[in-house]
Amino acid sequence: MSMPHVLLSAAVSLDGCLDTRPGEDRLLLSSEEDFRRVDAERASSDAVLVGAGTLRADNPRLRVRSRAPHAYPLKVTVTRSGALDPAWRFWHHGGRKAVYAVGARAHARAVAAVGDLAEVYEVTEVAGDENAAWEAVLRHLRTLGVRRLMVEGGGQVHTQLLQRGLADELQLAVAPLLVGQRDAPRMLGPGTYPGGPLHRLTLVETRPVGDVVLLRYALSRRPGADGRATAADSAWLAEACRLAAACPPSRTAFSVGAIVVAADGEELARGHSREGGDPHVHAEESALAKPAGDPRLRGATVYSSLEPCGRRASRPRPCARWIIDSGVRRVVTAWREPDTFVAAAAGAELLQASGVTVVEIPRYADAAMSPNAHLLSS
Ligand SMILES: [Zn+2]
Repeated sequence: MSMPHVLLSAAVSLDGCLDTRPGEDRLLLSSEEDFRRVDAERASSDAVLVGAGTLRADNPRLRVRSRAPHAYPLKVTVTRSGALDPAWRFWHHGGRKAVYAVGARAHARAVAAVGDLAEVYEVTEVAGDENAAWEAVLRHLRTLGVRRLMVEGGGQVHTQLLQRGLADELQLAVAPLLVGQRDAPRMLGPGTYPGGPLHRLTLVETRPVGDVVLLRYALSRRPGADGRATAADSAWLAEACRLAAACPPSRTAFSVGAIVVAADGEELARGHSREGGDPHVHAEESALAKPAGDPRLRGATVYSSLEPCGRRASRPRPCARWIIDSGVRRVVTAWREPDTFVAAAAGAELLQASGVTVVEIPRYADAAMSPNAHLLSS
């Protein structure tokens, strides 16, 4: 993969503002609970990025309270002017920092200002192509080992990444405040967004966090061919892994979550191992039994934290067969089934032989495996 997973994170008022007008005290939009959520997102990211304009305006520390300073994610900023102040708190908390300066002039200024506080990289300016700079930043971050990048603004950075189709996920915390000022900064500015004004984003989660509501959208950066994972695939698979973690525990069977999603992005059903107190039911079987006969199953995708079984000990009909018979032609999964309980249980070959595309996204393997760790360690 040449670019990290890019998560845009912001908190806005009910009227869409990020803050009060410039010059006024910084507006705290998040609740204490939501600050803890943001902290956890930072801690689980390899890098956290804010634009230099936000550092200038808000002077944030970007602390990660749940991490020791040496275990912080890489802190990243991007500047087009190179006008950086070594006194900003950003430089003096946490571990490594990186600056991406666009153009030679900005680079020279940035090195002079903060060269002893951060690694300063030059990004080549390509006239008329602002995309190129962002793509270069993202690619370079990937070479530094950054797989998951959390972008915390400001609005200009969010707008640019979103309009250029470079973001995979949007986490928007909506706070119960009304700012009401015409010149207050907004999260997203005017311009052309991918798909235009009629394109509906894929909502993958809503969650109350104190008096704030978190909205999580999957953004389709790479609207892939069948065999390629899209951003929506990642979000649904992550949700299936969370479902697996909620299964009633067992010492003799895996915990698996499965979600069936129609081609238009609508969830048709979900299921998990041992659902409804049935000790033998499998996640895919349980999920697919619900919309049985629904014509939207043709063209739907099954997201399963574990590769669907091709043989099973408990019942004659394996999940791969359930999938083939349902009309589903695409499966996205996080890890291949080991021979823990049934030898050669893997269903991928059976699925593929029947014309079902199987896509594996290995970076979710840890999430899929963690509810099963007690079965795998022995
Ligand atoms: Zn199964």
